[in-house]
Amino acid sequence: MLVRFWGTRGSIPVALTSADIRRKIESALSLAISKGVDSPEKLRSFLNDDLFFSGAQTYGGHSPCVEIETGCQEYLVCDMGSGARVFGSRIMSERNSVPIVVNVLMSHVHWDHIMGFPFFAPAYVRGTIIRIFGCHDVLEQAFRMQQSAPCFPVEFSTLAADIQFVKLQPRASVEIAGFHVTPKLQRHTGESYGYRFERDGKAVVYSTDSEHKLEDSAETEAFVEFFRNADLVIFDAMYSLLDAVSVKEDWGHSSNIVGVELAQLASVKHLCMFHHEPSFNDERIESVLNETIRFEELIRNGEPLKISAAFDGMEIEV
Ligand SMILES: [Zn+2]
Ligand SMILES: [Zn+2]
Repeated sequence: MLVRFWGTRGSIPVALTSADIRRKIESALSLAISKGVDSPEKLRSFLNDDLFFSGAQTYGGHSPCVEIETGCQEYLVCDMGSGARVFGSRIMSERNSVPIVVNVLMSHVHWDHIMGFPFFAPAYVRGTIIRIFGCHDVLEQAFRMQQSAPCFPVEFSTLAADIQFVKLQPRASVEIAGFHVTPKLQRHTGESYGYRFERDGKAVVYSTDSEHKLEDSAETEAFVEFFRNADLVIFDAMYSLLDAVSVKEDWGHSSNIVGVELAQLASVKHLCMFHHEPSFNDERIESVLNETIRFEELIRNGEPLKISAAFDGMEIEV
């Protein structure tokens, strides 16, 4: 299974500013001077070995959209945040004579998770089939509302694609594009749903916009079962622990610390932190990642858990 991240930011898309880029260049060049980089060869090894991710790259700013490659003609994607615009461009560039079929699994319909759909180019192509799966009664209404006057110029009803809405039931598994898919109810304002994808003995869990209260042992146990032995869990780690237990308690999101605890209890192999806080810059996300890795080492009581922070364009093979 190959998982590709088109959007990883929570709540609202963000962009690097001119000042951010200048700051990255200044700190990279200062470090290069201190390392005595004075030839193209030294520059290449400096870029590969000495520069931190936040110094050379960016986590990006699109809101949630995560593709799981199917290996067949159909596409499979979780959520239609602003990353869906770029995902749609990729689909159009790969287009051949076969009609496009896209299966969308919706965690919920908060705006950051649907805002890319009006800019999803395949929706404007006749012959395209888009199946939008979800557990909410308001699924179709939300997609139609965001494209209605006076807020958007193109009415949903004028889209050329055949767009179908398919209601799923929590805990009731279905087969979609070759995957065994199981939805799970999560704690979030207006409710959200996580999805467990299984195929060929591998399992990937997409679990965003989910607040965990570890004092509720029945709920914790249900999530441990949902994550059990997964090769990859994409986890809402929007806040640091301090945020999660103080001002932002009950805001519907979770922390890196809770993510590690649940993943260890469930013997997960790889925890990928996702739905990054929009006010965090690249250095802050990287420092949260490093803290999380240290925390995991401290409380480890079994196999090591791999931990990463998702970035736009990231691919994970499981
Ligand atoms: Zn969200
Ligand atoms: Zn939400």
